[in-house]
Amino acid sequence: MTSPQHPDHHLETRLVHEGSQRTPFGETSEALFLTQGFVYESAESAERRFLNEEPGYSYSRYSNPTIDAFEQRIASLEGAEAARATASGMAAVTAAMVGQVQAGDHVVAARALFGSCRWVVEDLLPRFGVGCTLVDGADLSQWREAVRPETKAFLLETPTNPSLDIIDIAAVAAIAHEAGATLTVDNVFATPLFQKPLALGADCVVYSATKHIDGQGRCLGGVILASTEFIETKVQQFLRMTGPSISPFNAWVLLKGLETLPLRVEKQTATAGYLADALHDHSKLQRLIYPGRADHPQAELIRRQMSGASTMIALEVKGGKAGAFRFLNALNLIRISNNLGDAKSLVTHPATTTHQRFTPEQRAEMSIPDGLVRLSVGLEHRDDLLADLTRALECA
Ligand SMILES: *Cc1c(COP(=O)(O)O)cnc(C)c1O
Repeated sequence: MTSPQHPDHHLETRLVHEGSQRTPFGETSEALFLTQGFVYESAESAERRFLNEEPGYSYSRYSNPTIDAFEQRIASLEGAEAARATASGMAAVTAAMVGQVQAGDHVVAARALFGSCRWVVEDLLPRFGVGCTLVDGADLSQWREAVRPETKAFLLETPTNPSLDIIDIAAVAAIAHEAGATLTVDNVFATPLFQKPLALGADCVVYSATKHIDGQGRCLGGVILASTEFIETKVQQFLRMTGPSISPFNAWVLLKGLETLPLRVEKQTATAGYLADALHDHSKLQRLIYPGRADHPQAELIRRQMSGASTMIALEVKGGKAGAFRFLNALNLIRISNNLGDAKSLVTHPATTTHQRFTPEQRAEMSIPDGLVRLSVGLEHRDDLLADLTRALECA
C-alpha cells in the first residue's frame, strides 16, 4: 500500500478517488487486475522482488493492484494506517484473532457476537490451547474480572447482532491496555461511517465487507484495519501463508461499493429512523429497539460513541416464535434472508436461524427472545416499507 493521495479531501471525495492508480490507457473507472501472477523483466528482477529489494507485485495471494486500491480506500475511510482485505468477514475475524495468539494465551470476548465469530473464540481457539472467557460486554466489571496474566486479546461487536446493545469501546480498550492486551472491534453494524473504533482506543477493526460495503448483495469480502505495526507483526504472515485472499474481482466490486457507501448508509439510516418512530407503539410489538431513538437504554453512550444510528432495527413481536413467523410470512416486499446492509430490505428470525445452535438459556443471555425479528432496512421508498410492515404486523 502506498501513502494516501487525498489526505486533505473530505470523506465523500476520498471514497471516490483514494487508491485509484490509472494505467496508461487513461480509464475513468478503476481497472480490474484479474490476474493470479505477474511476470518479471529478468531473472535478476525476480530475485530482487523476492528479496523485497524491488517494489512490485509477485503473486495475488500476497498482493494485487485492485486489492491494494480497495485496501487504500477503506484505510482512508477508517483513518487506519494499514488495511488487509480477505475473502470474507469471517476470514478477517479469524486472521485477526488467530494472528494474535499462541498456545497458552487467553482471549476475552463479549458473549453477544455474530454466531461464527463466537465459534472462532469459543470453539476454535481452545482446540489450539488458547483459553477463552465470554463476558456480558456491557458490564465493565466482567471484562476486568476475566483478565488473566496470559490474556492477549479482547474481541467485541457493537451494536450487537441482533439485539442492538451497545458496548463502551473506549472503556473496554482501557481495560485491555491496562492488562497488556489488545482490543479488536467487529464494526459491521455501526459501519465505518458512524463509529471509529481506532479513534476510541481499539487496536484493530474488522469488517464483513459483504454487508454495507458491497451493499447490493453480490460479493463476500472482509477487511482488517490497524496500525502498520499491528498488521505487519500479527496479521501479514498469517494471511500470506494461509491464503484467505480476496478475489480481485470481489475487491473491485467492494472498491466501487465504497463510492456510494455514504449515500446508501445515510439514506437507509434515515428510513430506519422513520420506520422505528412509526412502528414504536404498535400494539403487536412487545418492544422495538433502535439505536437512533432517545428511548434506547444506552442512548447516552450512543451519543458519545457513534456519529449516526443504524440501518438495523430489532423488533420483538408479541406471541413468541409463532407471532414472529406469522409476521415474517405476511411480508410481501421485505424478504426473509440472513444477510444485512443490502439495498433490499431483509428480515431474519435469529432464534431459528443465525442463533439456532444456542440453547434457550444462551439466547436469553444474548437478549434474543423467540419473538425477536431483525430488520435490515434497504433503499426502497420508506412508505412502501411502512405499508408492508404495518400490514404484516396486523397478521402477527
Ligand atoms: C456477516 C458478519 C460477519 C461475517 O462476515 P462474512 O462476510 O459473512 O464472512 C461477521 N460479523 C458480523 C457482525 C457480521 O454481520
